[in-house]
Amino acid sequence: MEINGFRGDLIGPDDEEYDTARAVWNGSVDRRPRYIARCRGAADVAAVVRFAREHDLEIAVRGGGHSVAGTAVCDDGVVIDLSAMRAVWVDPAGRTAWVQGGALWGDVDHETQAHGLATTGGIVGHTGVAGLTLGGGIGFLMRKHGLAVDNLLAAEVVTAEGSIVRASADEHPDLFWALRGGGGNFGIVTSFRFALHPLGPTVMAGPVFWAADNTSDVLRWYRDFVAEAPDELGSVVRLGTVPPLPVIPVDLHWRPAIAVVCCYAGAVEEGERAVRALRRFGTPLVDLLGPSPYAAFQSGLDDTVLHGWHYYWKATNLPGLSDEAIAVIADHAYAAGSPRSYAAIFHLGGAVARVHHDATAYAGRDVAHNMVIDAVWLPDEAGEHAAAETAWARRFLHALHPHRAGGVYVNFLDSDDDSSRVREAYGDRTYRRLAEVKAKYDPDNAFHHNKNIEPG
Ligand SMILES: Cc1cc2nc3c(=O)[nH]c(=O)nc-3n(C[C@H](O)[C@H](O)[C@H](O)COP(=O)(O)OP(=O)(O)OC[C@H]3O[C@@H](n4cnc5c(N)ncnc54)[C@H](O)[C@@H]3O)c2cc1C
Repeated sequence: MEINGFRGDLIGPDDEEYDTARAVWNGSVDRRPRYIARCRGAADVAAVVRFAREHDLEIAVRGGGHSVAGTAVCDDGVVIDLSAMRAVWVDPAGRTAWVQGGALWGDVDHETQAHGLATTGGIVGHTGVAGLTLGGGIGFLMRKHGLAVDNLLAAEVVTAEGSIVRASADEHPDLFWALRGGGGNFGIVTSFRFALHPLGPTVMAGPVFWAADNTSDVLRWYRDFVAEAPDELGSVVRLGTVPPLPVIPVDLHWRPAIAVVCCYAGAVEEGERAVRALRRFGTPLVDLLGPSPYAAFQSGLDDTVLHGWHYYWKATNLPGLSDEAIAVIADHAYAAGSPRSYAAIFHLGGAVARVHHDATAYAGRDVAHNMVIDAVWLPDEAGEHAAAETAWARRFLHALHPHRAGGVYVNFLDSDDDSSRVREAYGDRTYRRLAEVKAKYDPDNAFHHNKNIEPG
């Protein structure tokens, strides 16, 4: 089989690599594409798009392969696989970087930190830059420097017709607007250009853990703490068990616990002052908050969410941490069957909230917290165990219903979240505008293995 103009690797069911190449981060996703086209550059991507369109093949696009819904791979059809396109070019003087569409956040942090620079990325190093950015991109630096999309300066895009275009504030501005939050609906991004900011390399960062019994007290205290926090302080609450990481004493491993994970995007001494009260609250089980190389901190959670485990997510926005919401969270967070299941609450605000809501397609700038409930089990625990974990996540979300803000972060939606939740993620107005851009750039909905926006 030959694709005109394609110089990458074409992998099919008869190839030894096939099973590895079709596997994504979520091990419960088991799809069998007809071809996996591992591209080497934008010209390859354009060639495969044209081929797929001519032959009426389903198209899936793989960036980092981290979507919990597994949309990076399809049955039958062709996977346009960017995993061999991970280069990052930093311009230290201009404080920008070009990042290829298959890069992971660990690649970006590694290259940018070599120059003492950084941009907002995800909290796990092996998450893909592409999917994360196109949905908005939340992370520890967002309160200071905005979302990943707020740092996006330009993108090189292969359109549904197979042409290569540039999107920026001056070139295809409608496409540029839609790419900043609208997901993989509008084209395949082969390179992103990001703004960078001086950071570290040493920052004040890390988690403080308390025993699960303290959850309500910690969350009530945290609510007031973050209300006064400077923009530099990014934080995520993690509720589950203490992960069995080498830096944590063995006797604490797997103990039910709440952690507040912080990263201060400024001088270490200022960061020390900003987190002092947090570290003194109650009696922590273990306090790992301290000066740390930013790149090492950013990969600290990588081993807690391994490739190939099975995952199922439920998510919602929270307007704030009311006493009632805290009671629900404390009741449900530790009721999962698996010690690997957890919930995470991201604190937004700061620079995220200061960008006008029409400026990009990311919705939810006025939301205080994004919450994600992550059911996790091992591949050999499928069946009853899987059913119990997914039921836990659904129950937890259901119990939060009265305390939710409208909306959900689109990148946290799973495969059984129906299209109404995609609309919920954007709200009517943004969804309508996205549908118009979709009608212009992909009227046939060739790119529909995603959180789909129908051409309107
Ligand atoms: C462990 C873990 C931690 C996470 N942490 C965060 C976090 O801190 N912040 C956050 O915001 N999100 C986070 N997420 C969610 C994350 O944003 C999404 O899972 C996202 O889809 C990952 O991007 P990817 O490129 O790896 O995904 P993939 O599975 O490769 O792609 C998902 C979809 O994105 C589209 N896509 C991918 N690449 C391209 C491309 N080059 N051009 C056009 N479309 C493309 C396609 O529609 C594809 O179906 C996390 C996810 C996981 C699993």
